[in-house]
Amino acid sequence: MSSQRGNVSRTRAQRHQNAQVFRNDKYDTSAQRKKINTKLHEGLCQHCKEVLEWRVKFNKYKPLTQPKKCVKCLQKTVKDSYHIICKPCACELALCAKCGKREEIVIPIQTSLEKTENEPSKNEQTGNNRRSGFEDDNEQNLSDMEDENEDLDLLVKQHKTERTGI
Ligand SMILES: [Zn+2]
Ligand SMILES: [Zn+2]
Repeated sequence: MSSQRGNVSRTRAQRHQNAQVFRNDKYDTSAQRKKINTKLHEGLCQHCKEVLEWRVKFNKYKPLTQPKKCVKCLQKTVKDSYHIICKPCACELALCAKCGKREEIVIPIQTSLEKTENEPSKNEQTGNNRRSGFEDDNEQNLSDMEDENEDLDLLVKQHKTERTGI
C-alpha cells in the first residue's frame, strides 16, 4: 500500500470570506438582545419608528427597567423605552407614543394585547394511562444465559473426558 504523495485533493475552504454585514447579535446572542431585535415599534409615527429601529440596530436601544410616567394619564404605564405616552393613551388620543404629535401611526397599537392576560386554564390531563415499570433488560439476560450454557457444555465435556480417562 503506497501513500501516494502529491495526490492530495484540496478540501480546505477558501481562506478569506469576510463580506459580512453589520450584525448587532454577532456577539450578543442573549434573549434580551433577541427580544429587542424582534420588537414591534407600534403606535409610532414614521419618524419615531425609524429612530427606534436605528437605535435597535446600532445597540443604542436601552430597554426600560421599570415603567415610566405617561405624560397624558400621569400613570406609570409606559413600558417602552423613549416613549412618553402609554399605549392606551396613544391609542385613544391617536398620537405618536414617542413624540406625542398627531402623526400617522405606522403600526397601530394592538389593543387586545394590552388587556390583562386572563387565559382560561383548561389544561385537564386525561391521558394518565402511561405504562411504567417496564424494564427492558431481556437482552442482557439472554446473553448471560448463553454464556452459562457454554460453560455447562464445557463442564460436561471435561467431565466426560475425565470419566473416560479413568
Ligand atoms: Zn397614559
Ligand atoms: Zn413620533
